[in-house]
Amino acid sequence: MFHLHRAAWVLPIDRPPIRDGWVACDRGRIVGVGGPEPHDGIDQVAILPGLINAHTHLELSWIAGKVPPCASMGAWIRELMALRRGAPPPEDVQRQAIVDAIAHARARGTVAFGDIGNSLMAADMLADAGVPSVLFHELIGFHPAGARERASDGVRFVIGRVRPPVRPGLAPHAPYSVSPDLFRAIADEAAAHHLRSSVHLGESRAEVDFLMTGRGEIADTLKHLGAWSDDWAAPCTDPVEYLNRLGVLTSGLLVVHATQLQPSALARLADRGCVIVSCPRSNRWVGAGDPPLDDFYASGAAVTFGTDSLASAPDLDMFAELAAARAVSSVPARQLLESATLTGARALGLDADLGSIAVGKRADLLAVGIPADADDVEEYLVGGVAADQIQWLTA
Ligand SMILES: [Zn+2]
Repeated sequence: MFHLHRAAWVLPIDRPPIRDGWVACDRGRIVGVGGPEPHDGIDQVAILPGLINAHTHLELSWIAGKVPPCASMGAWIRELMALRRGAPPPEDVQRQAIVDAIAHARARGTVAFGDIGNSLMAADMLADAGVPSVLFHELIGFHPAGARERASDGVRFVIGRVRPPVRPGLAPHAPYSVSPDLFRAIADEAAAHHLRSSVHLGESRAEVDFLMTGRGEIADTLKHLGAWSDDWAAPCTDPVEYLNRLGVLTSGLLVVHATQLQPSALARLADRGCVIVSCPRSNRWVGAGDPPLDDFYASGAAVTFGTDSLASAPDLDMFAELAAARAVSSVPARQLLESATLTGARALGLDADLGSIAVGKRADLLAVGIPADADDVEEYLVGGVAADQIQWLTA
């Protein structure tokens, strides 16, 4: 079925916005984009590609509203672990929370996820909803024993569990919860199976202190949880150099948060082809501080965004995440929008189909209502968009 959409603005992302533009779609694919072409039937909307949420934990959706914002990362982890180790709700309740979270995100303009999972419960919901995604199987283990086995079991589990349009990935959780041996074993499995990887890195001051000294709030938390390993010795360096020494700083690695990384560490991420995934609202929720977004972009690294989970964000609304990013940075709106679309799609290996309005890509396009007097459409779109302004175009 052929559709021609005319709009006050079309944002192809791979080139500047087009005033009085048009997009032609045929059987779910984009077959043309152009303008300016003033026309009587133009809608007062901006057409842009669906947004990519490059970091969620859909499995944690049942926790929505149960972990309050915390003053420190350690306090937040303890609250979260107490909930997860306590009495989680029945599986059908957890499943419904995932279904609802996906539907909510979709209604607010998200087309694809980079999702982190332990049980991989979200695999079926993502596939059933037809959401193209990477489901990163998260592995945790601070004790060095059995690292190789844990990684090979993990890769088998995720490959067997996901089905199109969901793809498998691997995620060592973080430097304070994954032993050096497990980091290396996961990287080897990811390389052998050509899987993408994601890691939480440089999220909090406490993590930086822990790697530098082996002490502090995170060490105390690990001991409190019974997860401490006497085999572990502090590397006495920053998180990026630590992963570099382990040999796991690979091209395409999604480095989530990076909130507490210095410009020299960010430059190394750029040099290695790593992708920074920023979640500004989550950073604030867990007491990690605001991300240095200007430094992220200045480093030359690819930067994209995610909401993180409903345990540390009020919703999975990527427009709200963009508004939070805008509030803490002076990065041009055009770059923020590119990050939330094309860069996110590339980071997840979905850019053949998603991320920009280009001939041949999937016509998963948003029409966002904009006021007639909005003279800077890009700035308007990163200023916060309400749910009732967002519509998916018929493809
Ligand atoms: Zn996360």
